[in-house]
Amino acid sequence: MRNDIHVLVIGGGIAGMAASIALRGTGIKVDLCERDPQWKVYGAGITITGPTLRAMGRLGILQDVLAEGYAADGIDICSAEGKHLFTVDTTNEALGGIPSAGGILRPVLHRIMQRRLQHLGVSPTLGVEVESLALEGEKSKVLFSNGTTVEYDLVVGADGIYSDTRTRLFPGTSSPRYAGQLCWRLMTARHPSIERRTFFLGGRAKVGLNPVSTDQMYMFYLEAQSTPVRRDEAGQHLVLHELMEGYSGVLAEVREALSSSSNIICRPLETVFVDDRWNRGNVVLIGDAAHATTPQLASGAGMGIEDGLVLAEEVFKAHDVPTALDAFMARRYGRCKLVVDSSLEISRLERERAAPEAQTAVVEKALVQLNREF
Ligand SMILES: Cc1cc2nc3c(=O)[nH]c(=O)nc-3n(C[C@H](O)[C@H](O)[C@H](O)COP(=O)(O)OP(=O)(O)OC[C@H]3O[C@@H](n4cnc5c(N)ncnc54)[C@H](O)[C@@H]3O)c2cc1C
Repeated sequence: MRNDIHVLVIGGGIAGMAASIALRGTGIKVDLCERDPQWKVYGAGITITGPTLRAMGRLGILQDVLAEGYAADGIDICSAEGKHLFTVDTTNEALGGIPSAGGILRPVLHRIMQRRLQHLGVSPTLGVEVESLALEGEKSKVLFSNGTTVEYDLVVGADGIYSDTRTRLFPGTSSPRYAGQLCWRLMTARHPSIERRTFFLGGRAKVGLNPVSTDQMYMFYLEAQSTPVRRDEAGQHLVLHELMEGYSGVLAEVREALSSSSNIICRPLETVFVDDRWNRGNVVLIGDAAHATTPQLASGAGMGIEDGLVLAEEVFKAHDVPTALDAFMARRYGRCKLVVDSSLEISRLERERAAPEAQTAVVEKALVQLNREF
């Protein structure tokens, strides 16, 4: 057990919680600071791939995720009219028998991870940010917004796509880039015909349905837009109703049920990839702070969880933090770049309305790589 190292994790999202759980699990002393005093997360669903479930298993949360979320192998590919075209096989021996796909509500996943943190004795400091961060030899001296100052052996910036830590480490570079699509998400009751992740391709946009529990599912609709327009929340259901015109089958039923009380979130898709080392000295970026992807491979959260696991493994193994961060970079850079690049490639094909087979071919190729051990 490494109880000689003191780590600060900045940000209590999926990546920051994963890193805190994994580091604490090896005996390392972890402080977690989260700027939101309520530690809230918005109520959308999230798709979990087999590799993400595998990583969740290593964090010790797989059974809870399977009990409180939903798992089913494969992706059903349908036409815009709802006709089943083919099923992408997501199973893979490398997953060691765990389900190869699933879904869960974000607040449910957050609660599961928070319980794990509590179990390990990590209690976050909420409503606090880093005011300044100074590299002093092998340590980083951190001044917090509550006036306290602490020296750390390692600082982990897990503060998301608009990361202040990234701006501090790499001033003037790596700002989020709009990816040409708006992502609409709707939470609704699970339709009995939707038993697994289901994509509807070949229509005006890519649309998907995914169960997140036995009685709930979420829909995503990727709207091509050259500029990142902000939608007025009050009228969102009317815009979505119009966008979904022409879809039949289960999507037509979902469309007809839209109302002003529908749970809809519309966000522009953005991406960041720090095309360099993700650390300066003993301060390292993980999760969306280093590599925020568009969601086509549903792997952004999974990459954040893997980052946390790999970081903990390497810190535990190495004699010093620089060696651990070299090993961390060697294991994470290529894998995360594959996710960001392939997702952008699929996004391009979606916007060009490429054939379903062309789109799923990129998904399948990337999944083969991601199924491999990380
Ligand atoms: C539309 C959309 C759909 C997606 N769908 C999927 C999907 O289906 N499957 C999947 O695997 N991934 C999906 N993703 C990606 C996934 O949501 C992200 O990769 C993941 O949530 C990133 O986690 P994170 O912890 O790195 O960042 P975040 O979730 O952004 O967490 C960052 C945390 O840091 C805190 N913070 C920020 N700044 C500071 C600061 N200065 N000090 C202290 N705390 C701070 C924030 O409050 C927040 O709690 C999707 C993304 C989008 C945009």
